[in-house]
Amino acid sequence: DPGAHVPVLVIGTGYGGSVAALRLAQAGIDVHMIEMGMAWDTPGSDGKIFCNTTSPDYRSYWLRTKTKQPISNFLGFPIDKNTPRHTGILDAEEMGGIIVYQGRGVGGGSLVNGGMAVTPRRENFGAVLPSVNADEMYGTYYPRANAGLGVSTIDPAWFDTVDCYQYARVGRKHAQRSGFPFIFVPDVYDWDYMKQEAAGTVPKSAVAGEILYGNNHGKKSLQQTYIAQAKATGKVTISPLHKVTSVAPAAGGGYTVVIDQINTNGDTTTTKTVTADKVFFAAGSVGTSKLLVKLKATGALPNLNSETGKGWGDNGNVMCGRANHLWDPTGKVQSGIPCSGIDNWAAGGAFAEVAPLPTGIETYASFYLSITKNPNRAQFSWNAAAGKVDLNWQTAWKQASIDMAKTIFDKINAKEGTIYRTDLFGTYKIWGDHLTYHPLGGAVLNKATDNYGRLHGHPGLYVIDGSLIPGNTSVNPFVTITALAERNIEKIIATDL
Ligand code: FAD
Repeated sequence: DPGAHVPVLVIGTGYGGSVAALRLAQAGIDVHMIEMGMAWDTPGSDGKIFCNTTSPDYRSYWLRTKTKQPISNFLGFPIDKNTPRHTGILDAEEMGGIIVYQGRGVGGGSLVNGGMAVTPRRENFGAVLPSVNADEMYGTYYPRANAGLGVSTIDPAWFDTVDCYQYARVGRKHAQRSGFPFIFVPDVYDWDYMKQEAAGTVPKSAVAGEILYGNNHGKKSLQQTYIAQAKATGKVTISPLHKVTSVAPAAGGGYTVVIDQINTNGDTTTTKTVTADKVFFAAGSVGTSKLLVKLKATGALPNLNSETGKGWGDNGNVMCGRANHLWDPTGKVQSGIPCSGIDNWAAGGAFAEVAPLPTGIETYASFYLSITKNPNRAQFSWNAAAGKVDLNWQTAWKQASIDMAKTIFDKINAKEGTIYRTDLFGTYKIWGDHLTYHPLGGAVLNKATDNYGRLHGHPGLYVIDGSLIPGNTSVNPFVTITALAERNIEKIIATDL
């Protein structure tokens, strides 16, 4: 309510925000969460909460009048289509040199992502979070995060036989024939449910190609895990369709938070001001960085340090497809949930997810999202003339990622006598180098904050999301975001509250 006072306000309901809310509530503290996206708890007129990847409708994109699909073309033809402007689930946020895809709604990225729940190899952890004790992470916080998220791995015997992973078995064959380690990647999808989907005994979700715009069944998003547990404490409330625009010190202590309530067209209907003793920034790497950079530059939070907005990376994301021979079909039924990867990190700086291309038809295509050791880092800055925050990432910086991904796919193509697809990202364009699914950094741990996410210069303000991680996790990021949040909130509860 306008004018309300809350002990703790959390901005955003993704991984970092959900961990903070649950653990604070369990410690007996009342928490209010603010989320700019929708609640995603009510079916549309088709009886479904989420729309399918093959038929994006008004629910698909965040405030766009046309879809902005990561794979923009097929057989060279553009496949984007008009949709009514709506507070849909997937934001394709254009930041100059890169499009950053993000989930919008209660659950953040967990609503739209593939659920691939990967703990980095321990020997790589020092490069991921240099100031964090690896023994504590691997002994306590990664296990806690994996348990909280409900992570498990596909049954290998089932994988070997089921139609919907034919594409991944082709991926395995090609990886192994070129001498690359092929690994099963854990996920938060309920594998028993997927077995029943494949057997035709329950409503289909992953097996019907659902991914990107939400899964109606089977995927354990944060709504089913951390947020459900947080709500069950009775101490956590959530305001969807509310967007935080300002946080500034309040006269009597604590912070004044300004919040726009929006409707499903994205228009502001009310502006509310509340006060909070403590504020957790959990708006995601881009959301948190944009807020902090603006608030520092405009004088609302003048004491934030000069590291604010720095150290942003794309987790080295780059996509590509390969055209297989007619004797290597990848299947017209493809599970939307990836379950495997090709690990060439140590030798070539690339870890490639064997990804689905769920079109509903046989494409003979193998599709991959590579995570690479791209060294480039960008910075957010306040553009006073335009009244917005800019990011100085350059599209050309993806060349490093392309070179690393090629250490895998040039070799596979040479071995198989195959070529890259050139029809998925435009005409004659091999590499999906215009986007990331994995924004990281902007308020880096032990730089913009102390070693537990406390923002310098403003006691009672914390960062607890992907913006703490300096640009790369060597694998898919959400398990690391969750584990780091578990570590930091434990310390903060013990010492600050
Ligand atoms: P987020 O989950 O992004 O949550 C931030 C929340 O804050 C959002 O709900 C946002 O709407 C809200 N918010 C932002 N600004 C404001 C504001 N001003 N006021 C109020 N609310 C605000 N990672 C993996 O590990 N495995 C995968 O398989 C995987 N697949 C992916 C597939 C796709 C298509 C995408 C887009 C991402 C994928 N990711 C995956 C990445 C993963 O989802 C993110 O790394 C993760 O969600 C980031 O967590 P976070 O807590 O930092 O923020």
